[in-house]
Amino acid sequence: MPEQSLPFVIDKDAALEHQLAAQRARRPADPLLSLVVPVFNEEETIDLFLATVVPLLERDGVRFEIVFVNDGSRDDTFARLFHRGRADRRLRIVNLSRNFGKEAALTAGIDHARGDVLIPMDIDLQDPPELIGSFIARWREGYDIVYGIRTARHTDTRAKRVSAGWFYRVFNSMSPVRIPPNVGDFRLVDRRAVEVLRQLPERNRFMKGLFAWVGFNSVGVPYERPERAAGTSKFNFWRLWNFAIDGVVSFSTAPLRAWFYVGLVIATVAVLYALFIVTRVLIFGVDTPGYASLLIAILLMGAIQLLSLGIIGEYLGRLFVEVKGRPIYVVEGIYEDTPPKPPVT
Ligand code: UDP
Ligand code: MG
Repeated sequence: MPEQSLPFVIDKDAALEHQLAAQRARRPADPLLSLVVPVFNEEETIDLFLATVVPLLERDGVRFEIVFVNDGSRDDTFARLFHRGRADRRLRIVNLSRNFGKEAALTAGIDHARGDVLIPMDIDLQDPPELIGSFIARWREGYDIVYGIRTARHTDTRAKRVSAGWFYRVFNSMSPVRIPPNVGDFRLVDRRAVEVLRQLPERNRFMKGLFAWVGFNSVGVPYERPERAAGTSKFNFWRLWNFAIDGVVSFSTAPLRAWFYVGLVIATVAVLYALFIVTRVLIFGVDTPGYASLLIAILLMGAIQLLSLGIIGEYLGRLFVEVKGRPIYVVEGIYEDTPPKPPVT
């Protein structure tokens, strides 16, 4: 159909612009920015992080607070944070009672942040703080979520890049919510998206997925991910593998449903094969050999049953964790330099 015959041209950009304008109007002139920083055994990186981030934000005249979540560090992380926090009102330390993992720590930080906008950040400066300015600029345009996209992953090993690529492919093909590839937790989140996020009750915090689930207008800002500034990565192969399984299993039930189809195919093949054998015996008489085919059938069925049982187990295990309903994290204490209370009269 020629375009002229349409009654009007649907202008998608104008619709989005209208949406964004409505959000722009809500933006406070002097927003409070909360950096949410989970830390686990990071005594070497704290000073460097503060020395980089604080002057940058001060230069840009941003009103900010930094919420550090000490995720049960076993080194001097807490002591260091504590001393820095006493000297600076803008720092708050949420001390967890033990190590709960990065996702839980991030959840704790998000719950305790007071800002109009939140930015979760790694402390190792792999999330470049220079990007904060452009995040805020896009937020001012009306976007509720502005995420950083890692363009080149030079600093990752080839194996990590390939496996990450596969993860996004598998996840997005199975899950009803799409997570943009090569996007970490480093992003700006508006207060209204934060409030939705905080209502999600699940214990299994696959934050990237939860952020995507929340939705709203989002936009990406590309950046190159630098090397860790100091210290070592807390994620080895097994932690990442388990993280990937957590992600898929908490956002998709496709692996469960897949067994229905596997079962269907195998049942069909089995029925056809049975017909074939019976017919053969009826026509050619009894024929004893068959050890190999029998053994293969038994082993194959056994393997398939164990596999499917394993997958059901994954979901059952998670169901168990959710049903118990234990808190996602336990706060040992919150440390901040609160202004002295007026004397009681
Ligand atoms: N982290 C945490 N709890 C953990 C593991 C990591 O709070 O159990 C923090 C860590 O201190 C850092 C961030 O999560 O601020 C990212 O960790 P890391 O740099 O080791 O991950 P990578 O960049 O290698 O994926
Ligand atoms: Mg890192």
